[in-house]
Amino acid sequence: MKKKHPRMEREEKTVAAMIHAYCRRYHGDQRPHSDPRALCPECAELLRYSRTRLRHCPFQEGKTTCGNCQVHCYKPSMREKIRTIMRVIGPRMMFSHPILALYHLLDGRRKHPSKKIPAPDKRH
Ligand SMILES: [Zn+2]
Repeated sequence: MKKKHPRMEREEKTVAAMIHAYCRRYHGDQRPHSDPRALCPECAELLRYSRTRLRHCPFQEGKTTCGNCQVHCYKPSMREKIRTIMRVIGPRMMFSHPILALYHLLDGRRKHPSKKIPAPDKRH
């Protein structure tokens, strides 16, 4: 596999940190007891899905943040979940993960992706 761009590594880290924080807080009773670091099945699926979407993101390291992107590549059910998590956990990220939060802020200032939007049939 091709080595990931640091920007994309960071995107993955950020989304994983947010899903973990959310799951710890709201899904405590649904998480597997055997592994305190594991996610509940629903969040585990969401994280897998987010990683797949990032891997397929047509803009890659030229992307803006997903919240600012014009291509809404998440399917509606997943989009709803990730939006809730961003809304609830986003503001806390400044305290729990200041570096990631700062980079996310800077990445979001890129209003448009630095590559052209691909044809619609590339979306999933
Ligand atoms: Zn969860």
